[in-house]
Amino acid sequence: MTKPARGTEKLPDKLVDSFDRRINYMRISVTDRCNLRCRYCMPQQGLDLLSPDQVLHYEELLRIARLAVAGGITKVRITGGEPLVRKGLLEFVSSLSRIEGIHDLALTTNGLLLEKYARGLYEAGLRRVNVSLDTLKADRYARITRSDSLEKVMAGIGAARDEGLNPVKINMVVIRGLNHDEVVDFAALTRDEKLHVRFIEFMPLGEDEFWSREMYVPSDEVKALVEKSQKLVPAKSGGSGPAVMYRFPKGKGQIGFISPISNHFCRSCDRLRLTADGKLRTCLFSDTEIDLMTPIRNGITDEELFNLLHHGTKSKPRGHNMHADPGNTDRYMSQIGG
Ligand code: SAM
Ligand code: SF4
Repeated sequence: MTKPARGTEKLPDKLVDSFDRRINYMRISVTDRCNLRCRYCMPQQGLDLLSPDQVLHYEELLRIARLAVAGGITKVRITGGEPLVRKGLLEFVSSLSRIEGIHDLALTTNGLLLEKYARGLYEAGLRRVNVSLDTLKADRYARITRSDSLEKVMAGIGAARDEGLNPVKINMVVIRGLNHDEVVDFAALTRDEKLHVRFIEFMPLGEDEFWSREMYVPSDEVKALVEKSQKLVPAKSGGSGPAVMYRFPKGKGQIGFISPISNHFCRSCDRLRLTADGKLRTCLFSDTEIDLMTPIRNGITDEELFNLLHHGTKSKPRGHNMHADPGNTDRYMSQIGG
């Protein structure tokens, strides 16, 4: 039997990286634009934005998504920048939700436009939404996000819940000196409502001078702070994500801890990221990226693109070393998608 030519060997159907991790989750960033300027994510003056032709078109995103699903992706999250600022997003969600094989379609948003779009998102087939919110105090919200819109976010959370995007998950990045004194108040939101609150460790991505080890609060410390109000009990996560889930004994909602720094989940990492400018990013903290946009615009076939996804997946690093060496990456969080 003759050996197949180099590079044309039949690739396995399912996306598996070099460390035998099966990849089934893709985060798709649809834009680098945002209607907020959160201090930990973006500089006040914003960033150099991609021009429209530097951003993958929806048809291109859908093509990649379909091939990724053929490679075993079952979970997709739409993110940004702020995904709800991109025109035509509802149609895109609707097309994505009709791809057979996506069992879990979710969206991460800052919530500003959620009141406007919650119904449309539900009608387009979305069932889950995560809202990023770091404080319940209006003055602090303005300080953190450089915008005066806490009320809009709260209205958005209410609208999402009312439209059936349940349970709404609130993501809070805990930062010492900025909002860590509010973790008990956030946890309390889960007592009477079927909300999930997830505390996320502050990561050294974004403005170089903003992150510091002193401001970073490890999840163990956040949990201890929450438990000053009442002991938590383990909860079933109901998903395979990295959050470790708890609840108050009689709480309706759940409380999660996401610990990319203190207890990184690299060994079970199952995700790929697609940036708005068409780069496949295999690790949040690694600047190794595979360009998909150029080959797509140069007429790559589906088979070749499928192979590129496989080869890209193989370049996923074993893990990151952020706990020991919080070096910065080339991109801001808004340019990756979180
Ligand atoms: N604009 C949307 C939003 O804020 O939800 C989606 C994109 S945003 C980049 C995704 C997530 O990244 C948000 O939950 C945000 O809080 C989080 N994030 C941004 N910078 C971060 C940092 N330095 N450390 C931890 N989380 C961060
Ligand atoms: Fe925008 Fe989200 Fe970054 Fe805040 S965290 S600036 S809302 S992309």
